[in-house]
Amino acid sequence: MTDLALVNGNVLTMDPARPRASAVAIAGGRIEALNADPARTSRVVDLRGATVLPGFHDAHNHMIGFGMSLAEVDIGSPSVGGLGELYAAIADRASRTAPGEWVVGTGYDQNKLGGHPHRDALDRAAPGHRVWLRHTSGHMCVVNSLVLADLGLDAAATDLPGGRVATDADGRPTGLLEERAQLLVGSLVYPYPLAELTSAISLAAAEYLKEGVTSCTEAGIGGGWVAHSPAELAAYAAARDQGRLGVRVELMPAGEALHPLGAHAADNLVAGLDLGIKTGFGDDWLRLGAVKIFADGSLVGRTAALHDPYAGGESGRGYLQEDAAELQAAIIAAHRSGWQVATHAIGDRAIDLVLDAYTRALAEYPRRDPRHRIEHFAVVQPGQVARAAGLGVIPVPQGRFATELGDGMLAAVGPDRHAWLYRQRSLLEAGMVLPGSSDRPVVTGAPLLGIADMVNRRTASGAPFNPGEAITAQQALYAWTRGSAYASRQEHVKGSIAPGMLADLVVLSEDPTAVSAERIAGLTVLATIVGGLPRYDAGAFDGLS
Ligand SMILES: [Zn+2]
Repeated sequence: MTDLALVNGNVLTMDPARPRASAVAIAGGRIEALNADPARTSRVVDLRGATVLPGFHDAHNHMIGFGMSLAEVDIGSPSVGGLGELYAAIADRASRTAPGEWVVGTGYDQNKLGGHPHRDALDRAAPGHRVWLRHTSGHMCVVNSLVLADLGLDAAATDLPGGRVATDADGRPTGLLEERAQLLVGSLVYPYPLAELTSAISLAAAEYLKEGVTSCTEAGIGGGWVAHSPAELAAYAAARDQGRLGVRVELMPAGEALHPLGAHAADNLVAGLDLGIKTGFGDDWLRLGAVKIFADGSLVGRTAALHDPYAGGESGRGYLQEDAAELQAAIIAAHRSGWQVATHAIGDRAIDLVLDAYTRALAEYPRRDPRHRIEHFAVVQPGQVARAAGLGVIPVPQGRFATELGDGMLAAVGPDRHAWLYRQRSLLEAGMVLPGSSDRPVVTGAPLLGIADMVNRRTASGAPFNPGEAITAQQALYAWTRGSAYASRQEHVKGSIAPGMLADLVVLSEDPTAVSAERIAGLTVLATIVGGLPRYDAGAFDGLS
């Protein structure tokens, strides 16, 4: 028996076998039929021509980090226009925060502020408080003198492999901590209580549903600098038990969480989680995805590992997060143990290292269709496209980076390498599957913004951002639905609208493929349906909820 029939819609199914329909029938949380006779149900909703798509799936986001950031000081642009405004915002929050408590800000970009914040100014803005300001890239932060003192770094910098404690001309730390150095701050607040994480999940989910997101992939839990607790999965399980998960979530355990299991040698389980659970464990609401490994850092922060120096007369080429041989060994061990592997690699030097590791892993331990991923895949030489395609690698770039980080990225690599930045079209032409993702909270995560940027490719200042790699609205929609489902090995249950698929749908005010590219970002999400139930309803249709 049909539970709900949506009629008079413009249904873009993302199923190549049947790309368009006008009605969708839902039963038992799944798509029952397309264009069926609505007489079989009492619950018929007239969509009056609105557009229906499979629900958006954000293939790379940080759900807990985003949920927590909603409670932190917004120091991103345009919220703060310069360092003076940033210090004022910190002073304001400090004045409303109990003495001794932390003041945490998120999202600053020194390219837009004119420089990194400084410890001395933060001491003046928030006396008696510990101040922690996270860079928009997630790869660095600035802290004040109290935090530096807690870390034993207030007077002089200590050498730190894979990281940097920035100092002024006299050798005194400025408060800026890069890559592995910023992990030290995490050690002062880590681990967070699970109840706090569950609340962050619930806050984030409410936002996601308003934006048409029905699934997301959390890119790193339970270990390394992205973790909030070693028991982070339990926060998601609690959210689910309490009916607060909202969207379907795929969790990537951090590589640091994997360990030897002591299983029989014939099993090849050299790196795993307890009990041997791995990629694919779970169900339609909560499941384990790939293992997340970090090869390098940030492009706008100029820490990502490039073959040639950064632009602007710099000598630095960035650096790897770990010794190259150890990184490759970790990737190969995870592959050998049956994991899908998702490696963060931004610079062309890091990408070569990862492609080498995937090549060796597949040669030494052949596996069918492992779908290994490269997260971001940012500075990509032409030969690397062909190489990655040949290995079946799934590239996971972020469309929205063009607007919010594009100016800083263009400056970081210089004109000779602009055509290598955040490719899309050449990846599709090479036969690769392109997912859609935001990396939220690094940038604004609404899928329609990401989709618009994949088409428009302009920076915040209006500069073209490697426009030769622009794709069509149809290709961008496909990425955010079926492409992301493929990257999660879930294309048989979601990512398209066809009988038997999960009834995860988003209803939009207009068809993104039928409006001008400039208008895509301004379209409205009218409803979001997960598992056949309306979870967000803007009230545009009679009888929906
Ligand atoms: Zn990320």
